[in-house]
Amino acid sequence: HAKAHGRNTFRFYTREMNTQVADRLQLENRLRHALEQDELFLLFQPQYDINSNALIGCEVLLRWQDPQEGLIMPSRFIPIAEDSGLIVPLGRWVMREACMQMARWRQQGLLLPKIAVNVSALQLTRMDFIDDVRAALEESGLPGNCLEIEVTESTLMEDADLAARQLSILKAMGVRLSVDDFGTGYSSLAYLKRFAPDTIKIDRSFVCELPGDSEDAAIVSAIIHLARALGMSTLAEGVETEAQHHYLRELGCGGIQGYLLGKPQSADSLAAQLDAAIL
Ligand code: C2E
Ligand code: MG
Ligand code: MG
Ligand code: MG
Repeated sequence: HAKAHGRNTFRFYTREMNTQVADRLQLENRLRHALEQDELFLLFQPQYDINSNALIGCEVLLRWQDPQEGLIMPSRFIPIAEDSGLIVPLGRWVMREACMQMARWRQQGLLLPKIAVNVSALQLTRMDFIDDVRAALEESGLPGNCLEIEVTESTLMEDADLAARQLSILKAMGVRLSVDDFGTGYSSLAYLKRFAPDTIKIDRSFVCELPGDSEDAAIVSAIIHLARALGMSTLAEGVETEAQHHYLRELGCGGIQGYLLGKPQSADSLAAQLDAAIL
């Protein structure tokens, strides 16, 4: 498009836009080296059964410690990683590290049922994704059912046929599936039926104004009833208050994750918490 208009096209960009494009390019270039420079690390956020308070798993969340800027959050670098294709090697690294950490916890005798790893569309729709998952499981010695992958609705729709094929192979390996940020994308009930996820994660945006917001309450309640009727479990994201916790329990939600019960934390810190729970 730019080419069709010749070099004069640049006239239409404001200085601010140029700066944004330059920033992004610069960040992309640094991100390209972040993996080999050991600047990436994982945090783990616990997930609990809403009734028994038992730990049911933890979500793996990527962080980037950049020497220039300090800590960079995923909202800033994941979109760049996705656009540039860097998400493929980064995601492969996350999968491998996450499985190895899970194996280490198990060797320490810490019983954590599963880890949940976020997976982008570009990863899921590559033929070698299955090989990556298989390799991560084999290397760590984990059974497939210790691993859950979290994908958003839009990831499932990107190339639904391919996604369905990939997910059925993973399912046969025991790997579990959860739909992330449910309700914020182009939620289609046909997709829910087709992909039959184990868990629906209720997006934080529907949780944060509970119990006061009656519309959010209606939406959350409807999601929980729908999931139950379809034989799926639910997990609410971003639970920050006791009032939200109690209300979600009343509505029949199955699991919760959020700052109230545990922030994203280091592997050691989570292990210490698990240890304390066993004693
Ligand atoms: P997500 O998968 O929906 O993860 C939940 C986000 O909510 C995390 O943000 C988490 O830190 C935050 N959160 C958890 N509890 C609370 C709470 O009580 N209150 C509030 N305000 N926030 C809470 P984070 O770590 O910044 O990650 C943002 C997004 O980046 C994730 O959203 C996920 O889509 C993406 N992401 C993170 N790690 C990876 C990764 O390894 N691969 C891919 N493809 N995406 C990732
Ligand atoms: Mg997630
Ligand atoms: Mg989420
Ligand atoms: Mg979310």
